[in-house]
Parts: sequence; C-alpha cells; structure tokens
Amino acid sequence: MPITEIDQMRESVAAKCREIAAREVAVGGAGNVSVRVGDQVLITRSNLRFEAATAEDVSVVDLDGKLLEGERPSSETGLHVGVYRRSGAEAVVHTHGRSSVAVGLVSDEIPLVHYNLLRLGGRVPTVPYFVFGSKELADATGDAVAAGAAAVLLRNHGSVACGRSLDEAVEHAEMTEWVCDVYLAAKSLGEPSLLTSQDLEEVAGQATRLAYGGH
Ligand SMILES: [Zn+2]
Repeated sequence: MPITEIDQMRESVAAKCREIAAREVAVGGAGNVSVRVGDQVLITRSNLRFEAATAEDVSVVDLDGKLLEGERPSSETGLHVGVYRRSGAEAVVHTHGRSSVAVGLVSDEIPLVHYNLLRLGGRVPTVPYFVFGSKELADATGDAVAAGAAAVLLRNHGSVACGRSLDEAVEHAEMTEWVCDVYLAAKSLGEPSLLTSQDLEEVAGQATRLAYGGH
C-alpha cells in the first residue's frame, strides 16, 4: 500500500478516536484503537488522549507487534495483534467503559437482556483477569473472538470490540457499553428478565426470513 494510503488510514483511526471521545465511550483516558491493513496494524500510541488524536498518534506495527513506524505503540498492542492473528477481524477498539467494567466484575458473560446481542455474536463472554499487556490476556481475548464473539469483557479491566471495519468495531464497542448500561439500570430496579438461547435463535431466524423477504 502506498505511503499516502497508510497516512489516510492513520487519519481515519485518529478521527475515530476523537469521535469515541466525543461520545464518552472511552472515559478515564484509557483506550486504544487499531485497524489491520494487510500484514500491518495501525494502532494508537501509548498514553494518548483520544480527544486530541492526530495521524501522528497512530503507529504502524507488524503482526508480532513490532514497531515499524511512529511513536511507541499502545501497551495493549499484544491484545490487538492477538485478535488479528486468530480471527478475521479488521479493526479492534479497546476501552475501559464504566458499565462494561462493572458487568465484567460480576458476570461471566453479558446477561441476555436484549436481542441486539446477536450483533455481537450472541454471547459476549468475560475473560479472567490477567495483567494488562500480558500474553495470557492476549491469548484469552483472541480465543474468545476466534470462537465467534465480536466483543469480550476483560475482568477488572475493560472491553474489546472487533469488526470487519473501523466503523463496525466502534459500533460494536458502543453496543457493548449500551447493553451493559441497560443491564445495570434494570438491575437497580429489580431482577432483570433475560432472554434464552432459544429466543436468540428465533431472532436470528426471523432476521434471516425478513432479510430474504419471507413470511
Ligand atoms: Zn486497557
């Protein structure tokens, strides 16, 4: 890919960071965004404030996480690369959102509060706590994505959302945070009513029928 296209992608990643900051998905100054371009990964640098991100804040690494260009990449580069090496994901968003961290502390997956969880693969599992930047965390997260999850909660840490594009990964990150918000709100009122796996299968069938114009 010519230099100019890589530069354009760097600007796209920076623009997404600013957008995420404006929507308050990545609070607490923590989070990182990456996109895969062939066998290279464009990823935000370490200690970046999303609201001020520019193309210069987006580094280029290979699929081993080795720096090819730019500033020192995020300390979570291994997490992103671990996902790319195991799955067909093209973009990854990692944040420390309040609601997703809270739900990950008490649940082994996001409770089935809404059928939109289907857009995240149906099940959003929580991986056990491992120290940030570790191979164990990268492996556990990559394995969960490889098994079909488009989002994963990291216990005592945050969440990871993937997509086939930068836009889709951001959408999945927002969906993850929204579903966790809904669960927390409901839980404060009483015991939430949950969907079953069978309900989700029925929704998937219905979506297919409607998409194909069936009855
Ligand atoms: Zn993190």
